[in-house]
Amino acid sequence: MKYVSTRGQAPVLSFEEAMLTGLARDGGLYLPDTIPTLTPEEIAAFEGQSYEEVAFRVMRPFIGDSFTDGEFREIIARAYAGFGHAARAPLVELAPGHFLLELFHGPTLAFKDFAMQLIGQLFEVALKRRGERVTIVGATSGDTGSAAIEAFRGLENVDVFILFPHGRVSEVQRRQMTTPADANVHALALEGDFDDCQARLKDMFNDFDFRDGVKLAGVNSINWARVLAQVVYYFTSAVALGAPHRKVSFTVPTGNFGDIFAGFIAKQMGLPIDRLVVATNQNDILHRCLSGQGYFKGETIPSISPSMDIQVSSNFERALYYAYDRDSGAVAQLMEELKSGGFTVSQGALQALNETFSSGRVSEEETLATIQATLASSGELLCPHSAVGVKVAEETRVAGTPMITLATAHPAKFPDAVEKASGIRPPLPPRMADLYDRSERVTRIANDLAAIEDHIKGHIAR
Ligand SMILES: *Cc1c(COP(=O)(O)O)cnc(C)c1O
Repeated sequence: MKYVSTRGQAPVLSFEEAMLTGLARDGGLYLPDTIPTLTPEEIAAFEGQSYEEVAFRVMRPFIGDSFTDGEFREIIARAYAGFGHAARAPLVELAPGHFLLELFHGPTLAFKDFAMQLIGQLFEVALKRRGERVTIVGATSGDTGSAAIEAFRGLENVDVFILFPHGRVSEVQRRQMTTPADANVHALALEGDFDDCQARLKDMFNDFDFRDGVKLAGVNSINWARVLAQVVYYFTSAVALGAPHRKVSFTVPTGNFGDIFAGFIAKQMGLPIDRLVVATNQNDILHRCLSGQGYFKGETIPSISPSMDIQVSSNFERALYYAYDRDSGAVAQLMEELKSGGFTVSQGALQALNETFSSGRVSEEETLATIQATLASSGELLCPHSAVGVKVAEETRVAGTPMITLATAHPAKFPDAVEKASGIRPPLPPRMADLYDRSERVTRIANDLAAIEDHIKGHIAR
């Protein structure tokens, strides 16, 4: 299995190399050169199997000879052992024909644990074999950083540094990053906002002396291994509702388009998915684009679903690559136009996107009202991101095709918005109820590249 860049100018890599590289050298994103398919019989046989077993069968064709079957099974077992639910991704019924896929039972209470826990284990095995050590640096507005720290803490061949904006993440998110005691974990509170964190991260990747010196590696949502890990729960949930004998649809609260793109891959693999519905908050560039208004950047407006507050949706480039019939030259051209504000999607490509994707946008008031209404009708307390999904799903679902809405975070991760909507302040699950008692360890750091690089060089184990 070989991996190629959406922009066509980077070296062709193996699964392991693409995973360790992250972003392609031509600025593009890696994709498999062909998408393996599963027969209806193979999909039907997932029924009644454990999450781990389905994960093995779905992902195995993509990893080539990077890992042996035995290694890969052990990696998967370790990745999901720390989840707080035996089903890993349980499905609950909200209303007749409308189901919620709870993806928040991992160690940091957001769906990002599904991918991050897996790549933590994949990195560890690959690096040990290569006799290498890497330094992972990430920028976060909250969920990615906590998931990365939880996934890489205590691993032998990795140091992890997470930059988050000082004073601008929720208390739960901050404590999840600052309380792990492992020596290879470093939380850095940057004196700036999330854009500053991302800008300094980019500066570090462009400083080749530093990059090569510390063996910098990236685990943000464009890493192909993260997308792949998310394909699995589309299969487990669809099969639980009757696939492959019956079609299902999904609604996905969307920011960087990683989670929903995994659904697109599941569909290409042969899972009978009817619609993939993109749900956005007031930061609606994807909804505008899919409605035929082109892909043009605006101002990011802070919302109560902050993990979806984006203007440029990085994984959308992968969808464009397929919509443009794998024309990497056309994709590179669009990304060039994006630098000066945006681009229009060709008629043919828009038609291709609309064959699979629908979309909807939800206001702040509607998000709060949906949390309250869903609690009243089903007893399920939603986080604000999941509420955006549920609202759009209600508007788009059709009788006869089950709709599965992805619940991307636990309500306790966003207690202020949930309390405002419902009057209930959701408690943390018992397994992490002592989060507020654990001691914190964090370095406050200036928004200054040299200061950050010096700190990292001084704190990596060598
Ligand atoms: C990251 C995140 C999203 C958006 O997921 P993408 O893959 O970026 O589209 C939605 N909800 C929550 C809670 C998240 O943490």
